[in-house]
Amino acid sequence: MKLHNRLALALLLGVALGALLHPYAESPALAAVSTHVLRPIGQIFLRTIFMIVVPMVFSALVIGVYQLGRGHDLSGVAGRTLGYTFLLSGASVAIGVALVNLLRPGAGVQLAAPAGSPGVETLQQNAAAARPLSDILIELVPRNPLESAVRALDGEMLPLMVFAVVFGVAVSRLSAARAADEGGDLLLVRVLEQIFDACMRIVHFAMILAPVAVFAIVFNTAFTFGTGILATLLFYVVTVVGGLLLQQVVVYGAFLWAVARRSPLEFFRNCREVYLYAFSTASSNATLPLSLDVAERKLRLPPEISRFVLTVGSTANQNGTALFEGVTVLFLAQVYGLDLTVGQQVRVMVMSIIAGIGTAGVPGGSLPMVMIVAQSVGIPAEGMGLILGVDRFLDMCRTMVNVSGDLVIAALVSGRETGAHSSPATASSS
Ligand code: ASP
Repeated sequence: MKLHNRLALALLLGVALGALLHPYAESPALAAVSTHVLRPIGQIFLRTIFMIVVPMVFSALVIGVYQLGRGHDLSGVAGRTLGYTFLLSGASVAIGVALVNLLRPGAGVQLAAPAGSPGVETLQQNAAAARPLSDILIELVPRNPLESAVRALDGEMLPLMVFAVVFGVAVSRLSAARAADEGGDLLLVRVLEQIFDACMRIVHFAMILAPVAVFAIVFNTAFTFGTGILATLLFYVVTVVGGLLLQQVVVYGAFLWAVARRSPLEFFRNCREVYLYAFSTASSNATLPLSLDVAERKLRLPPEISRFVLTVGSTANQNGTALFEGVTVLFLAQVYGLDLTVGQQVRVMVMSIIAGIGTAGVPGGSLPMVMIVAQSVGIPAEGMGLILGVDRFLDMCRTMVNVSGDLVIAALVSGRETGAHSSPATASSS
């Protein structure tokens, strides 16, 4: 059975069994199994992923920014790609955050954070220490990146991300001068790529344990709190999908129409097969060859631009993922009854945008990232166990939007580059 099916099954079994035994929650024997057998399984799974967070975030972001920044020879194409990546991801996260605040999908159920959860303390400290904006800005630039790395899982991830972004820009500048001498990419870049690959391999190891861990976490939740969680999860799925739809239809549609002067309908219709493929593979990377083909053959985008934008975008531009991360973290905050301040929500938004850049274009690539963003505002890691059971479907949906975003950016950058698409009508038929 495929992993995502096993995860969904684990979710259902966990809820069913947990709810069945919920009336006996006071039984010492059952409580002991829950605390001493199931809880450790869930914890070991979560810690296996946490273990790779720092090296993974650093290597992924440096590589992502490096790829975005090295295309100097493309006369501004790289800069505009970077600009649109931030703009569209920002719009996407803003939609998600607005929706989750409006609909409050997590408010229907109140889970207590597991006892002694370090996350809750972090949240309380963060909330207590409401600092002026100027201080927050200053602290975004780390004095000691190593110290930031050590404290990354206690809410200090953003300074580390800033360091990685600056480092990535610097590497992209170095590379222009030296890459030729080293026969392609710099050695440093290749080392970082291998660190990243090894981290992803560890995620795969963790995934072996995932079905049992999901069962354990969900069982414990339903055992302690009953079945209300299932309806809440459904509401959460609807919120994410609603946000993705708005991004796809309204935001992409508006940009295509207003900036690229293309008919959105025609554009979307031409991309149908790419959407289907992205949906079924849940991988931007796997969809890349098809997007390249459609960009040239059906959308008639200039190859020198579309090849660059789509290749970089398949790893660095993940608008749907950024939205998913923002919604998930705020949803879990609601589920755990944590009232995030506006400042904390802004932090979630910024981190989600950056995390989108660092997310690998593979199925479930964003899971470690979403854990980091959640952790940074003090959400108990157990929350991820709830999300995993429904993640595959959301992954398929967000990957579609990720890939769609890459094609839209390619069109936006090409539109200005060539100036050829002067009216929606002509563009659609070109
Ligand atoms: N599966 C997504 C992609 O390939 C990444 C993620 O959000 O997990 O674009």
